[in-house]
Amino acid sequence: MRTSERINNIVTGGDDGWSVFYRARRLQREGHPVTMLSIGDHDIKTDRMILNAMTASMDAGNLGYSPVEGSHGLRSAIAERVTARTQTPAHEGHIAVTPGGQSALFCAMMATLDPGESCLLLDPYYATYEQTIRSASARPIPVACRAEDGFQPDVDAIAAAIEPDTRAILINTPNNPTGAVYRRDRLEALATLCTQRGIWVISDEVYDTQVWQGDYVSTRDLPGMAERTLVVNSLSKSHAMTGSRMGWVVAPEGVQARIADLLIATNYGLPGFIQDAAEFAVREAQAAEDAVVARYRHRRDAALAALGNGPGFRLVPPEGGMYIMLDIRETGLTGDDFANRLLDAELIGVMPGESFGKATAGHLRIALTVPEAELTDALARIARFAAKMMEAQPA
Ligand code: PLP
Repeated sequence: MRTSERINNIVTGGDDGWSVFYRARRLQREGHPVTMLSIGDHDIKTDRMILNAMTASMDAGNLGYSPVEGSHGLRSAIAERVTARTQTPAHEGHIAVTPGGQSALFCAMMATLDPGESCLLLDPYYATYEQTIRSASARPIPVACRAEDGFQPDVDAIAAAIEPDTRAILINTPNNPTGAVYRRDRLEALATLCTQRGIWVISDEVYDTQVWQGDYVSTRDLPGMAERTLVVNSLSKSHAMTGSRMGWVVAPEGVQARIADLLIATNYGLPGFIQDAAEFAVREAQAAEDAVVARYRHRRDAALAALGNGPGFRLVPPEGGMYIMLDIRETGLTGDDFANRLLDAELIGVMPGESFGKATAGHLRIALTVPEAELTDALARIARFAAKMMEAQPA
């Protein structure tokens, strides 16, 4: 029996640069002391008060089906959060609650793209983006952001990449993997372009609490954009709740209603006790949220102080997010090669830039997801290793 073309085409071959990550995990399972700086999962645990809210909800018997698009309390809490954080008010009718930001991305694609249509995405991009677009039977068109331009969106290149069937553009600020926080002037130019060409903006803002430099701008807040922007967000990064799978879409009302239809057909609501914990997190756990932000800010500053630039690598200082990037092109190695050799020699797992598209080839993404002392020790070893790779280059 054959499986559908739709599902066959979600992954289009190759390991997309993930093999080094799987190898690092295997080594770890086999008992090797691997320092994992690969994926964006916290060493920080979900705050105890949030967990208490979760267990209290379970104990109170909130274990049945819950409203499919999210509970009234949670959606109004999220809408109040969006309103407080931005210049554009939101209400419950704009919010659809999803199992994590990943599902929110899928819902946004399904809501805006018909089969065969294309969606632009800015390269480098989060590793699931292409699959998510293809899951909606649509076609991803990557548009490169240049390292020399701080990985900001190149609006001329975006305009040139639009095809007659392009219906949406997917952006991510603060950006994973580069840490770029998209500048207001670039987003304004992008907004003008999308308005002129009738294109939806899907704006992934899951790192919106982690802004270290520059002004964070949400595209939804730009004039006229609330009607053509779907914002994707979650509590995964902001509240160290990756495993709770708690995300949402902020969408124009008519779109939110269609996403609610889709949610009936997909997950049929999130566990009520997770929603109650999320409502508590959004309404009453500011201190826990601040603690997560402070931890990453400190680690980011410590990483920059520990590294600087050295033989074989150049640091790309992140303006936001929970990663740093190193440009290791000087060593003559690809990111993939460097990451594999680093794992063998030093038992340190990092992501090759090639995992995130073509624009970060020859780079490494390093997650700041281990305690500071372990992080700075690993960075010093990475720097020494880069210098060694430089020396080993053929003359
Ligand atoms: N978007 C970006 C840019 C991410 O980096 C991630 C996770 O790493 C996600 C979305 C998905 O997050 P969630 O855990 O909320 O599904």
